[in-house]
Amino acid sequence: MGSTDCLFCRILAGEIPADIIYESETAIAFRDINPQAPTHVLIIPRRHIATINALDSGDAQQVGELFLVAKQIAKEEGIAARGYRVAMNCNAAAGQTVFHLHLHLLGGRDLSWPPG
Ligand code: AMP
Ligand code: ZN
Repeated sequence: MGSTDCLFCRILAGEIPADIIYESETAIAFRDINPQAPTHVLIIPRRHIATINALDSGDAQQVGELFLVAKQIAKEEGIAARGYRVAMNCNAAAGQTVFHLHLHLLGGRDLSWPPG
């Protein structure tokens, strides 16, 4: 169920505009409002899950879908062959600021490692 306190649930509800580039019954993807690379897309489940820590075994298919969507969008964006990164931050020390599970898809430039 959506939470009115959650930014991404509000995007899912259509209350806040977003550049949505993919939609399925269970997930959507939209462009990050503050892109850190030429391609920076967020892929999120429709169901509100706050963090990786809240996942259980029943969520395995949902999480797998997020990766498959990232793969598809990377291909569409033309970054698949050169390379890209998918990342999911968990809680404050990792930089999570929106507490609705989201996979970052970043590409279109060389990405340094390790991340900060
Ligand atoms: P994280 O820091 O991993 O929680 O990532 C949250 C991401 O959401 C950041 O990269 C933000 O730039 C992005 N973001 C915040 N508000 C919006 C918005 N209204 N539309 C799209 N992306 C957003
Ligand atoms: Zn939410």
